[in-house]
Amino acid sequence: MAAIGVPGAGDDGGSAAGRVLTLLRRRGPLTRAAVTAELGLAASAVGTALGDLTALDLVRVSEPPRGAPIGRGRPSPVVEVRPDGPVAVAVQLSADRVTAGLVGLDRRISHVREHVLDGTATDPATVIPALADAVENAVLRTERRCVGVCVATPGFVRESDGLVRYAVHLGWNDVPLAQRLGGMPPLGVPVTVGRSATLAALAEFRYGAGRGAASMLTLSSERVGIGGGFIDAGVPLTGGGHALEAGHIIVEPGGLRCPCGARGCLEMYADPRALLRAAGRSGHPGHDDTLTKIFDDAAAGDRATQEAIRLTAGHLVTGLTSLVNTLAPERVVLMGFLADLFRATQDLVRDGLMASSAVARVGQIDIVTGDLHHATLLGAAERAFAPLLRQPRTVLRAGPS
Ligand SMILES: [Zn+2]
Repeated sequence: MAAIGVPGAGDDGGSAAGRVLTLLRRRGPLTRAAVTAELGLAASAVGTALGDLTALDLVRVSEPPRGAPIGRGRPSPVVEVRPDGPVAVAVQLSADRVTAGLVGLDRRISHVREHVLDGTATDPATVIPALADAVENAVLRTERRCVGVCVATPGFVRESDGLVRYAVHLGWNDVPLAQRLGGMPPLGVPVTVGRSATLAALAEFRYGAGRGAASMLTLSSERVGIGGGFIDAGVPLTGGGHALEAGHIIVEPGGLRCPCGARGCLEMYADPRALLRAAGRSGHPGHDDTLTKIFDDAAAGDRATQEAIRLTAGHLVTGLTSLVNTLAPERVVLMGFLADLFRATQDLVRDGLMASSAVARVGQIDIVTGDLHHATLLGAAERAFAPLLRQPRTVLRAGPS
């Protein structure tokens, strides 16, 4: 593996090559004529950009398939990102595990591995070396160039320097994660840190259930806690890394104490732990079969389990009402456990939200489930690839070949 540096002085500022590469990553294979039309660039500028991208082994150009309709002149060649081009290392840090994989420019995810953390050892001194191991293992599994690492982290994250301000389920305060990881045994590639829920929302907006929406609210839950994301016209709302702490909206004033210090937070009433409690089941939400059994029992007609699911979904509606009234998204995308909860209670959630939110009613807000299997990893790769997509020539020339 060869390392690639970050853009330095002398950037060529929003290059045509970067725009072509970004378009091909977002849209997949296109004819050269479509690239030219889509970007509104001169054909000669697109030709130069494609020449550069081909020389950098980022893009390949192939003749149109036989039988392609032939208009006036020659049919346009098809251009696409190379499936064997560079990769980004995408890492997701959760309360109980580290998941890492490689993502190509074609958005294909490979070599995904999970490392379950010992629940009693979430201190940075234990977790950061585990993260570094996960990154190193991912990098060693490929011969392809690696352009960067992005660690998606739950909680409040200052993305400019990768400082984790507060991660409630890890018990972290002011951990300089990017700096600490960057200083570990030589990865040789830039390390960034992003907020998990925002990165997952970005991926769904660009490639999944958010495509075509002007604005989109996501709520996601995996085992513990609830994260929120909001994208408006392609731009995530971040609030400096503190916005959309949707799991800590109060839905039961004076209710259960949340580790964040408040009482009655949404995630205490609508995440997997809450459903287990409502259904009177023991077990840990990390064991997916426990949750699957609850949904199966309800589908088989078990009244007590159905009631527990309705209760949990009702709390989700209460939280959604506040968020929708504040943000007025065109579309709501529910992910992970919340997607399962929604599938089991679609009418209750839809009708409940329409009844309690005039904004949802007037705006005819659409509620759907997420489309992507590894949305957070894909979102992390978006961040890791960003410098290359802006300035491919500069980034590739800055590092050893
Ligand atoms: Zn809370």
